[in-house]
Amino acid sequence: IVIAENVTKTFDNGVKALDDVTLYVHRGEVKVVIGPSGSGKSTFLRCLNGLEVMDGGRVVIDGIPLDSSRKHRDEIRQEVGMVFQQFNLFPHMTVLENVNLAQRLVRRKSTQEATENAMRLLDKVGISDKASSYPAQLSGGQQQRVAIARALALKPKVMLFDEATSALDPEMIGEVLQVMSALASEGMTMVVVTHEMGFAREVGDAVVFMENGRVVEECRTETFFESPSHPRTREFLSQIL
Ligand code: ATP
Ligand code: MG
Repeated sequence: IVIAENVTKTFDNGVKALDDVTLYVHRGEVKVVIGPSGSGKSTFLRCLNGLEVMDGGRVVIDGIPLDSSRKHRDEIRQEVGMVFQQFNLFPHMTVLENVNLAQRLVRRKSTQEATENAMRLLDKVGISDKASSYPAQLSGGQQQRVAIARALALKPKVMLFDEATSALDPEMIGEVLQVMSALASEGMTMVVVTHEMGFAREVGDAVVFMENGRVVEECRTETFFESPSHPRTREFLSQIL
C-alpha cells in the first residue's frame, strides 16, 4: 500500500537528509523505523505524506502517486494520518472540536455525523469523558491519545507515528503504546519511528534501520533483534538495549 522508491531529499542548507531510501509497506503491516538522531527518519515520514517535497524518487500511496498534482496531494493527506512527538492540538478548541475539525473541513461531514464519529474514536482511545475539556487540562498521554483520535477521524489507510511517545513522562508512555498496539492488531498499516524497543519487538512486523539518510538494514523483527547482519546495526543495538 506504500511504495517509496529511491527517495532523496537535500535541504537548502546542503544537508542530504535522505539518500536513495526505498521502502515498501504492505496493507496491514507495521514497519518500525529506528536510527540515530539526524538519520532522516522524520524527513522520510514527512515525505510519505507530502509534508516535505522530495527532490528525487517516487512515492505512491494506495495507488495514488505523490506528484505535483494538487488533487493527488490532497488525496494523500487524507489517506495518510500522522502523529507527532508534539501533539499539536489546537489549544483554543475542546477535545471534541479538535477531532471534528478536519472531518468537517476535509470530508465535509455534517456536525452530527462528525460528532458521532469523533465520540466513537475518543471512546476507542479511552478518553470520551474528556470530550469537552481543553488540551491544557489534559495530561500529555491524554493529549497524545486525542491526537491519535484526530488523525483517525479522516479514516486514513496508513498511519505514521514520529516518536509519538518521546515527549511523554514515563508513566504515560504505556497508555499511548497500548492504543498504537490496538490499532495495529485491528489491521492498520503503520510506519512507526520509535525508541521503544519493547514495542518494536512486540508489534513490529519488520524493522528498518537508518543512518545518514540511508537504509542500512531492513529485516523481520525477530531477525533484527536476534541476528542483525550489519555491524552498524549491531553497534546501535548494543548501545540501546
Ligand atoms: P531525530 O531522531 O533527532 O528526530 P531524525 O532521524 O528524525 O532525527 P531528521 O529530522 O529527518 O532526522 O533530519 C535529518 C537531517 O536533516 C539532519 O541532519 C537535520 O539537521 C536535517 N534537517 C531536518 N530538517 C531540516 C530543515 N527543515 N532544514 C534543514 N535541514 C534539516
Ligand atoms: Mg525525528
